[in-house]
Amino acid sequence: MSTRTAVVTGASSGIGAATARKLAEAGFHVVLTARRTDRLDALAKELTADGRSVAVHALDVTDRAAVDSFAAGLDRCDVLVNNAGGAVGSDPVATADPADWRLMFEVNVLGVLNVTQALLPALVASGAGTVVVLSSTAGLATYEGGGGYVAAKHGAHVIAETLRLELNGKPVRVIEIAPGMVKTDEFALTRFRGDAERAAAVYAGVAEPLTADDVADTIAWTVGRPAHVNVDLLVLRPRAQASNYKVYREQTQ
Ligand code: NDP
Repeated sequence: MSTRTAVVTGASSGIGAATARKLAEAGFHVVLTARRTDRLDALAKELTADGRSVAVHALDVTDRAAVDSFAAGLDRCDVLVNNAGGAVGSDPVATADPADWRLMFEVNVLGVLNVTQALLPALVASGAGTVVVLSSTAGLATYEGGGGYVAAKHGAHVIAETLRLELNGKPVRVIEIAPGMVKTDEFALTRFRGDAERAAAVYAGVAEPLTADDVADTIAWTVGRPAHVNVDLLVLRPRAQASNYKVYREQTQ
């Protein structure tokens, strides 16, 4: 039997890259996908040097034709980690730019739909498939200024919940991972359009936000459970964060 294959979307940074590392360490052949292939190549080089089995594929999850052709070229798929996603802007509903909302829906909702639909036949054929959906605590409760991202992540949450119902009886489980505050290099920078000061303020005074590794560890643990065990929804936050907007910040002055 050939090595089990895991596909990770958005593997070029943050949680996706960390998850690819963990799954490769766990013995999966990992297919690294994202738009920035230079970063994927660097990660692949590092993992290959460590004796891991990986492949790289450029993939924009919002491009359905590209996703279909990617799926057609895969020999097998046992695990799909729908990680590609993110936030753009933090404007109130009253003034938010619809273009930002469209972008967030495209990647966080339709991106998950595109890749999941395309790989589902292979996941079923594997006999013990796993779909992981990276939603967020923003997929479960809202906060001011979160509007578009919260709506999009609620969409991802609903995909996971609905798919689990629809696949009942088939050999595929659906795991939703909903992290709270995770300090990654790019998430907040992307949200604030490259404004490093605003991005840093997100984590200001928070002693230990979650790291990409914390989330990757959690994903790898859920994927590593026996095939009949479905961790439906796992919420993880740093201890300093009791809800989306109740965050303990140490005084720095
Ligand atoms: P990053 O910004 O570091 O990573 C986002 C990844 O998504 C990148 O690898 C990027 O790769 C990829 N991506 C973005 N758009 C596309 C696209 N159209 N097609 C393919 N890949 C795309 O963020 P994080 O690692 O922090 O977040 C990862 C996931 O976890 C996201 O879904 C995010 O919403 C979620 N999350 C993050 C939290 C946090 O606090 N950081 C909290 C809860 C959930 P590239 O640009 O190369 O395509």
